[in-house]
Amino acid sequence: MSSELSYVQPTANSPWGTYLSQVDRVVPYLGGLARWAETLKRPKRALIVDVPIEMDDGSIAHFEGFRVQHNMSRGPGKGGVRFHPDVTLEEVMALSAWMTVKTAAVNLPYGGAKGGIRVDPKKLSMKELEKVTRRYTSEIGIIIGPHSDIPAPDVNTNAQIMAWMMDTYSMNVGGTATGVVTGKPLHLGGSLGRVKATGRGVFVTGREAARRLGLDLRGARIAVQGFGNVGSVAAELFAEAGAKIVAVQDHTGTIVNENGLDLAGLVPASRTEGGAVSFKGGEVIDNEDFWKVACDILIPAALEGQITAERAQKTKARLVLEGANGPTVPTADDILAERGVLVVPDVICNAGGVTVSYFEWVQDFSSFFWDEDEINVRLDRIMMNALNNIWDTADRHKITLRTATYAVACERILMARQERGLYP
Ligand code: GLU
Repeated sequence: MSSELSYVQPTANSPWGTYLSQVDRVVPYLGGLARWAETLKRPKRALIVDVPIEMDDGSIAHFEGFRVQHNMSRGPGKGGVRFHPDVTLEEVMALSAWMTVKTAAVNLPYGGAKGGIRVDPKKLSMKELEKVTRRYTSEIGIIIGPHSDIPAPDVNTNAQIMAWMMDTYSMNVGGTATGVVTGKPLHLGGSLGRVKATGRGVFVTGREAARRLGLDLRGARIAVQGFGNVGSVAAELFAEAGAKIVAVQDHTGTIVNENGLDLAGLVPASRTEGGAVSFKGGEVIDNEDFWKVACDILIPAALEGQITAERAQKTKARLVLEGANGPTVPTADDILAERGVLVVPDVICNAGGVTVSYFEWVQDFSSFFWDEDEINVRLDRIMMNALNNIWDTADRHKITLRTATYAVACERILMARQERGLYP
C-alpha cells in the first residue's frame, strides 16, 4: 500500500519525510501490529484556515493558519501552536505526528496534534498579534476543545497568547473553558512549573544519559542551539549541575567561551533585541563553526532539520539532547549512530513540556492546584520511567534510542487503534 498523500510532497530530509523514515525504521519491531502501521503515515484530520486581520495602518492582511490532528486513538489531540514565517502544512503535519509519538512515549492519555500560523510575529504590533491569535482560534474552534484537541505554546507563542486563545474559545462557547489550552498564565488556570518544564525534561533525560555514558556533568562542555524557553532553561540547569555552556547560537548569531558563558549575563542579553551576540562575555564566531565547537553535549533546541549529514560528521559531542522537534535528519541520525554519538530523541527528550501541560489540564478539570515541588517530582518520575523503559527496549533489540522510543510508543498507539477497531 502506498503512503503517498496527494497534498504534500515530502523529501528525504523534510519534516514529514523525516518522520516517515522514522516510522519505516520501527515497523520490523511491531509484530502483528504492523498491519496497522499505515495509520501512522496519514494525519486523521488537517484544517487549513484563512486568518484575515485589519493592520494598525488600516490595510487588510491575510495569513495561512493550520491545525492538524494526526492521531487520536489514545485520547484527545494535544500539541502546541507555532507562529513562524516558514510554517507550512507539511511541517505542521510532522510536528503533529511527533506529538502522537511523544505523548505515547511518556504514556499520557493523548493523541497528537499541532497548529501554526505562517507569520513573523516580530513584525506585528501587540494589537495585531492579538487579532491574529483570536481570529485563528475562532477559525479552528470547530475542531479544538477540552475533550477533543488542546493547543499549547510552541515556537514564538507564550502564556499571553494562550490567554487570548482561552478567552476567544470561551466567548464562542459561552462559558470559561480553561481546559481548552495549556501553558496559560498562572491565575487563569495555568500550572506552576509549566514554563520551565521542557528545559527541565531535557536536563533530567540528559543527566541520566550522561550517567549511563560515564560522562561527568561537572566540567562537561555543552553547546546549545536555540536560546528560547527550552535551550536557556536547559542550559541553566546543566550549569547548576556544574557543566560549562561553551557555545550558544540564536537567531542573531553564535557566541562562544571555552571557560563557560556566564548565564547570569547571557540570558537577559539574549532577551533583548540584540540577542545572544549582544552579550560581551564571549567571542562571536561564524554560525557554521558552531557545529564543530569542542563540546561533550550538543543541545539542538531551535527548529527542524538542523543536524544535517555534514554537521553530524563535524560534531565533537558524545551526546546529543534533542530539545527541538525533528532537529536531526535521517542520514545524520545514521552518521551519529556509526560515530558512536548517543542521541536522546526529541520524542522523549523534550516531552517535559507536554507532561506538565497534562498536569495543567488535570488541575483545570479538578479545579485543585498542586505546588511546584509536587509537579517537579511527578515530572521527573514520568520522564525517568519512560526513559528507562525505552533504554531497556533499545538494549533488547540493539537499536537506537529513537527507534526504541518509536517501538514503545507505536505499540501503544496501534494497540489502542486495534482495540477500538475501525468505525463503521
Ligand atoms: N509545543 C510543545 C511540544 O512540542 C508542548 C506541547 C503541549 O504542551 O501540548 O512538545
